[in-house]
Amino acid sequence: MFDLERVARITGGVFSGKKVNCGLSGISTDSRNMEPGALFVPLRGEHFDGHDYLSQAVKNGAAACLSEEIIEGLSVPVVRVENTLQALGDLAAAYRLQLNGPLVAITGSAGKTTTKEMLASILEQVGPGLKTAGNFNNLIGLPLTVFRMQPEHQWAVLEMGTSSLGEIERLTEIAQPTVGLITNIGQAHLESLHGLDGVARAKGELFAGMQGGSAIINLDDERVARLPVANGVFKLTYGLAENAQVRAENVRVNCQKLEFDLHYQGEVQHIELGVAGQHNVSNALAAAAAALVLKVSLKKVAIGLKNFIPVQGRMNLMPMPCGGLLIDDSYNANPLSVAAALKVLANTKGQGRRVAVLGDMLELGDGAAEMHREIGRQAGEFVDLLVAVGNFSADICAGAGLKAEQMIELSDVDAAIALMQEKQRPGDRVLVKGSRGIKLDRLADALRAAA
Ligand code: ATP
Ligand code: MG
Repeated sequence: MFDLERVARITGGVFSGKKVNCGLSGISTDSRNMEPGALFVPLRGEHFDGHDYLSQAVKNGAAACLSEEIIEGLSVPVVRVENTLQALGDLAAAYRLQLNGPLVAITGSAGKTTTKEMLASILEQVGPGLKTAGNFNNLIGLPLTVFRMQPEHQWAVLEMGTSSLGEIERLTEIAQPTVGLITNIGQAHLESLHGLDGVARAKGELFAGMQGGSAIINLDDERVARLPVANGVFKLTYGLAENAQVRAENVRVNCQKLEFDLHYQGEVQHIELGVAGQHNVSNALAAAAAALVLKVSLKKVAIGLKNFIPVQGRMNLMPMPCGGLLIDDSYNANPLSVAAALKVLANTKGQGRRVAVLGDMLELGDGAAEMHREIGRQAGEFVDLLVAVGNFSADICAGAGLKAEQMIELSDVDAAIALMQEKQRPGDRVLVKGSRGIKLDRLADALRAAA
């Protein structure tokens, strides 16, 4: 990968003690999982300080270590740097140049992982590539993903997440994307980003920080459409909007499937995907637009989207006995994604009741109570039974304004599991959705197991 002298040069670090060069097989931040011969980069977290595990890393095969502190008595060479997280990013930025093919960076308030998986499914038609595993989308996860790049990779699709200003700017600097995509701008991480304008500014750092390449712009999202794009960056727009360059027409959404006609440069391609939810039309268009800007054919776009398999915990639909349905969207929640999921529930057809189990949406800051009342209001328009779980359950129910027997406030997921055992009826269509911290995935698992 690198040798240690090059590591010192890239990171501006100095050898602690005698200068001893050595080759490095890789980079690791976890002393328990050292790849033999790799460089150990100790990071400081909320609960742990990697510097406490330097000896363990060496015992487990580290060939060298970075450190912010003066270290003595370690049997492998140490390079001292000012900030190990910064150094990790700098090394990733240097390593990123390995990849000759396109690198697509995806950010946005909702739909990043889904769009990433859809795009990867398309690009797999072209050749082998690399995609972010799960949610490795922050200042640690993204560099570690970059280090997974191999010579055979012809493309990379990386997810970028953010909870503070400047983070996407740094991730953009590290990844040097040739294609940038912002799915949407909505109410998420409002606490640390100070409102929607802050979210827009934070996500916008991607378009602003690109050096050439293409920006993929969601024309259906006003805030995205208004974002400034760096000079010299090509723009390609997508959406349902008539003037979008990559456009969907004749959209048909049913419980298990999406269909639409994809229009691009005067050509039309029929698209089919095995997922539910109107919002997934937007994600599919985003993925299609990113692929089309890379000159992938419309045919391959269609095949890739058809092959797409929904990501676990995101809009997973499972038929239940007697025409019932479980909509497992338990993986995470914010006002934008809850509204999207409620629409899916509203559009389901069947004889049974429509039941929404809604957990708290976390990290929303001062306006949180109001936002919970608002999603309650949306649910109250059509659900037959509302189960609210968490500290904001009273706000959700207050917003819904249903009859008392149609609303249940619960403190946690265990109470929800017990309640649903008692209350669920055959034929019910049940949406399960909440922030990760509420752990409603356990309820979804229980409902699946009981079916
Ligand atoms: P995270 O920030 O947690 O990584 P993400 O941006 O990667 O989230 P996904 O995991 O793809 O987003 O989707 C999370 C949820 O957001 C989905 O289950 C769905 O309810 C909702 N969602 C996905 N795409 C959209 C979209 N385009 N618009 C609105 N809501 C969406
Ligand atoms: Mg994600």
